[in-house]
Amino acid sequence: MTRKKRAAVTTTPAKGIPIAAGGSVLRPLKAAEVVARDVVRDITAKGLQPGDCLPSEAQMLQTYGVSRESLREGLRLLEVQGMISIRRGPGGGPIVGTVDSANLGRMEALFYHLAGATYDELFEAWLFAESTLARLAATNPDAALREQVMEPYLSGDVEDAEHEDLEVYLSGHEGFHGAVSGLTGNRVFQLTFRAYGQVVAHHLSTVGDVHVRKLHRKLADDHLKLAQAIVDGNGDLASTLMHDHLSEVIAITRRELGSLLEGPVGWL
Ligand SMILES: [Zn+2]
Repeated sequence: MTRKKRAAVTTTPAKGIPIAAGGSVLRPLKAAEVVARDVVRDITAKGLQPGDCLPSEAQMLQTYGVSRESLREGLRLLEVQGMISIRRGPGGGPIVGTVDSANLGRMEALFYHLAGATYDELFEAWLFAESTLARLAATNPDAALREQVMEPYLSGDVEDAEHEDLEVYLSGHEGFHGAVSGLTGNRVFQLTFRAYGQVVAHHLSTVGDVHVRKLHRKLADDHLKLAQAIVDGNGDLASTLMHDHLSEVIAITRRELGSLLEGPVGWL
């Protein structure tokens, strides 16, 4: 994969925009948002899965009774969240996408950025969230499931290869943490708590030239110990190991990115 350009150092003041009290919960939906909501309702009602086709534009215009502009805007709202994708050209059309906490993270990063939230705050949230996920995974009452999901990481084989490509490394690393979060049995935690790590991973992949992969072997060993603690059902140990593991990742990230971590979290 091609390496992206190093992101410019942000000059936005760290103060940011004060976080509002939440009055927007009462904001009425715009026409495009109503369309987006109705499309999502239909996806759910029909039990559609990633890759399934949605109706054509002509059919949706008839079904939802809105202008072409509102329909397209509504679909676009879902497209940027990855929840649908739109194949352009003849034979194209909207298809069902994925539910990916990375897209949630991208949205959250915008909020952190404008609110002036710092990388220290992001890392603190990440440590808290992933330690909690590890504890919940280890205390999942289904021991057979814990063993089945963690089994690939117990030998270390799955992560044995040294990756030259940062993005390949990051997706492998995220794979382990995603597997842990999947064992929590709580999809709200899985989505929201994983998003912090996804924000960090996205930042690393965007700035590039990070040598986290130099410590790949050590980090894979951490995963092995974590996987064992989860299989053993040891919540306290899993939580502590995860905290220590990510503290190390954060230390490396600080060392590699240096001044890029000053100021508010970037929206990259
Ligand atoms: Zn890790």
